[in-house]
Formats: sequence, C-alpha cells, structure tokens
Amino acid sequence: MFLARSVAVALVASLSLALGCVADASPVEPDEEPAAGTSEDELTFRSTATSNVNLRDGEVVLTFDDGPAATSVDVAELLRSRGHTGLFFAVSHHLGSVEGGRARLDDVAASRLGAIAARGQLVANHTHNHCIRGVSQSAPCSGRGFADLPSAEMKRQVESADILIRAALARSDRSSAYLPFFRAPGNSWNAGAATTLASASLPTAAYGPIAWNLPRAGEEDFQCWRRNESVATCANRYLSAWDALPSGGQKAVVLIHDNFPNAAALTRAVLDGLVGRRTKAGNTVRVVRPGCVVGCTR
Ligand SMILES: [Zn+2]
Repeated sequence: MFLARSVAVALVASLSLALGCVADASPVEPDEEPAAGTSEDELTFRSTATSNVNLRDGEVVLTFDDGPAATSVDVAELLRSRGHTGLFFAVSHHLGSVEGGRARLDDVAASRLGAIAARGQLVANHTHNHCIRGVSQSAPCSGRGFADLPSAEMKRQVESADILIRAALARSDRSSAYLPFFRAPGNSWNAGAATTLASASLPTAAYGPIAWNLPRAGEEDFQCWRRNESVATCANRYLSAWDALPSGGQKAVVLIHDNFPNAAALTRAVLDGLVGRRTKAGNTVRVVRPGCVVGCTR
C-alpha cells in the first residue's frame, strides 16, 4: 500500500505528536548526524522489518515481548522508576477472545495491561496466538509460523490483537498507551505478509514489523533461562553484543521477554550496564522513546 506524500507527511506529523517522540535523556550533541527521515513507504507494513535504522549512536529503545504476564508489571514499574518508556508487544490470547467482532476480556490480564500503561509504558501488537513454526502445534497455528498462515488467518491474528489491546486499555482509561506497531512472532515475515496486512482492519498509524538487534540471535533471554544461567550471565550476553556494535553504530532495539520470572532483574542489569556509559564514538548511552524506531523529534 502506498500513501500519497501529503497523507504520509500528515501521518508522520500526527505520529510524532501521538507518540510523544522525545528522547528520555539529554539531547544529542549538535554535531551529530540527523536521523534518517521517514518516507511514506516506511509507514504501514513493510516488506522487511525495521529495527535500529532511525536511531542515533548511543540510543536504545526497550521492547518487551509475549506478555502481559504477572511479571510484566514488575518490568513496567522498574522502567517507571527510572523514567524510561518501553514498548510492550502483547500476545492477545492472554487478554481473552474476540467473539462477533467484540472483545471478551480476561479481567486479570486486562488489568495487567492497564497496570503497565498506568506506569507510563506503551503497548503494541504481537498477534493473537503467537504462531512459531514447528513449535505452536495447536490450531490455528497448526505447526505454522506467522508468515506461513493463510491470508485470512494472518489478518485475524493481527486484527484480534488490535481489538483486545484497545478494549483492555480502554477499560483502564489508558487508550493513549496504544502504539499500533507490530512485531511478528519469531520475526516470521515476508513480502507477502506485508501485502496481506496492508488490507487488514487496523488503525491508520499501524506500522511494522519492528525487529530488534540486541541480543544476538541464539543469545535471547529465553535461551539463558533454558540453560539455567544467572541474570548476570544473561545480562553480560546483552552487554557483549552492545560492545560488538561498530563505532558510530552503537544503537539498539533491545528485546527482553517480560513473561519470565527474571525479566525485571534482567532489565535492571542491562540498564545498569548500558545507560550513561560512553559509546566508542563518545556519545552517552540513553533510552529513547519507542516511536524513535520510526523517527522522532529529539
Ligand atoms: Zn514473541
């Protein structure tokens, strides 16, 4: 789907306002290169995933996947206490079901999403059933990854999540906490998925997919927990991945799964290790708002 430039410019402007795209910490040095601009085909669904391309050296966006779970609120509280805004990609089967186009909310899960939002955090779309190829055996995934799903089911996955997230946030009077970004489960994506989702019934500012570049593949937190590693060991994997980024390109969309017991402790350890240190290029590492993945006013 291509948008007329004027529409795209208006969308970018409204996105910037709606997302409150302001860096969490002090502005970057004036001699730093401006971030890449946002063009019309960077909005809606793209054929390839976006991660850190619009960030500047030293900037970090915090993303959390697969909640809401009981542990999600601890993560949100930690971020609030440090003045950071993270983006929580929710899997909506936790939140209830959609029947006849209407949300039937699970009260506990819906209140958790409200609690996340009440702590100043943002919520985004991570599908309804989180289909992972070869892992999610029950229907409707039936062993298929998200990008393998038939068009109608793919749309249903994203539209159901949209309906349930909006309903849960509205119940807590936190509708403004919804940032309609999308992340594909397991980064399962292709150009056909972009075409399919361009015609899904979603908010006009829907955008995706959002990928991540930290940790490295194979070093995700769930791998740490599967290996019974400590929080410190897991955090060091994240920090060594940061250290391996090139000079001038130390910028990251960080992924932590908020549905594990160690999620808040890992988040704390990663923030303690990153925030405030200097990049190889001499910039101070700082957390910026999630909308900066698309491009934001700093
Ligand atoms: Zn996930």
